[in-house]
Amino acid sequence: MSGEPLPPVKRVVIVGGGTAGWMTAAALSRLTDAGVAVTLIESEEIGTVGVGEATIPSLLDFNRYLGIDEDAFMAATGATFKLGIEFVDWADRGDRYLHPFGIHGRDVHGVKFHQIWLRQSRLAGRMGQVGNVSDYCLANQAAASGRFTRPVPDPAAVLSSFSYAFHFDASLYARFLRGLAEEAGVQRIEGKIVHVDIASDDGCIRAVELADGRRAEGELFIDCSGFRSLLLGDALGVPFTSWQHWLPCDRAVAVPSASTSAPLPYTRATADSAGWRWRIPLQHRVGNGHVYASAFIDDDEATAKILDNLDAPPLDAPRPLRFTAGVRERLWERNCIAIGLAGGFLEPLESTSIHLIQSGITRLMSLFPDTGPAIAERKEYNRLLRQEYEQVRDFVILHYHRTNRTDSDFWNYCRTMAIPTTLEDKIALWRAKGRIIRDQGGLFSDDSWIAVLMGQGLIPQSHDPLADALPIEEAGRFLDHLRDVIARTAAAMPRHIDFIASHCRSDLAA
Ligand SMILES: Cc1cc2nc3c(=O)[nH]c(=O)nc-3n(C[C@H](O)[C@H](O)[C@H](O)COP(=O)(O)OP(=O)(O)OC[C@H]3O[C@@H](n4cnc5c(N)ncnc54)[C@H](O)[C@@H]3O)c2cc1C
Repeated sequence: MSGEPLPPVKRVVIVGGGTAGWMTAAALSRLTDAGVAVTLIESEEIGTVGVGEATIPSLLDFNRYLGIDEDAFMAATGATFKLGIEFVDWADRGDRYLHPFGIHGRDVHGVKFHQIWLRQSRLAGRMGQVGNVSDYCLANQAAASGRFTRPVPDPAAVLSSFSYAFHFDASLYARFLRGLAEEAGVQRIEGKIVHVDIASDDGCIRAVELADGRRAEGELFIDCSGFRSLLLGDALGVPFTSWQHWLPCDRAVAVPSASTSAPLPYTRATADSAGWRWRIPLQHRVGNGHVYASAFIDDDEATAKILDNLDAPPLDAPRPLRFTAGVRERLWERNCIAIGLAGGFLEPLESTSIHLIQSGITRLMSLFPDTGPAIAERKEYNRLLRQEYEQVRDFVILHYHRTNRTDSDFWNYCRTMAIPTTLEDKIALWRAKGRIIRDQGGLFSDDSWIAVLMGQGLIPQSHDPLADALPIEEAGRFLDHLRDVIARTAAAMPRHIDFIASHCRSDLAA
């Protein structure tokens, strides 16, 4: 390192204009008021990855932070509402369950609801009367009947017991954010970066150079260049940690099809012989794709599987994609932070990539440095992001590993593979007494874990002894009442299609 004082961050350069680039630009545009110039460089010739249409509820916070009018944003992006993800054929062929964005039942005197349900369902004579734990989740019941309304803030109301996310056209979302960012002062440069200028003294990036000779200098660089990882991976050489041995899917083929029915308020993920197929309903079309492991199926067969399972003829040619599950060892190196696919990728099973972009942005905003390589901030950022990637990784692995499927080499591999000890410990705790201890800062709530663990067929051997404090008859009446209220509330909600029509109908759907 030279003895020169490091320059303050006055120019931020964002490389890439996909979802990651424009989300980052829209959020960082706030900095322009603090005298920081924000520039985004993107290349139409290279284009974007062009997938990423399903989100999770945390996006509500991001949109709120940006002051986005939700109905306008939904109309502009052809968006529908999403109450969860339906998993078909995962625990076994013929099985299905929903991972809902909502809570199950209501805790009683500090005893978790699912423990009360577990205890009642295990009591002789009451088996069958308590139903499935999903009967006690409003998001689940509303999704199953194709209904939607926005939740209410009053915590006492059953209508406050769920959240929601969106399915949208990712390129239109990026365009929508571009409008906000440019309006707030972000400068956009169209062009292809061909060289990254790294200082020989401190190893920091000084500038990126474009094919036409233009140069963009800065003190802080955000790498949103997608799988290329132009700055963090290529230029700074930060190694990639592969998790492919746990998440063997490494390819996808995506294809849109026409809508033939009212859009469902949930994503569908159907397990196949060497991966799974997604179905994402937008207002104006359906997004489909097949995520698969190339070690277990070839590209032609994988493409045929998605084309054979469309509801309607394809609207475009199938588009192949390749990836490796994993993350860069450090997401902030020197004066460069990778956000989005440039930093890492965990396949789209739980729609977490856009969330991880958001998390990178939020943490950058809360640790924004006065000089690019800020050592303390960088260390904390890397710790938090790595932890978050690992937590998401474990949750996704659970779906593959906890299966009874024996019908293909792929499922035999996933079922019998060694899993991270962090996940092993979680499963052991659940298996014994249905306990879930949420990780610090963990993205997935107890209710998410409950839905997926139960959905994947892992029923605990016993329940928490605290649940025995509630008299059996009283607990029975409590469950009956809750189930009834939830069923009636779901039935009274508007149909999803009608809610869209009266709030956020898109011209794209005309
Ligand atoms: C099969 C699949 C399905 C997915 N589904 C989901 C989902 O349902 N939900 C979800 O949250 N996420 C999903 N994702 C992830 C999601 O697509 C990405 O997280 C999101 O699109 C962000 O991508 P990005 O902006 O990082 O990269 P990209 O979209 O690839 O953008 C990269 C940008 O960098 C620019 N660039 C690259 N090189 C240069 C250069 N040399 N000069 C100038 N510009 C350059 C490109 O032009 C482009 O603008 C999915 C991903 C895959 C592969």
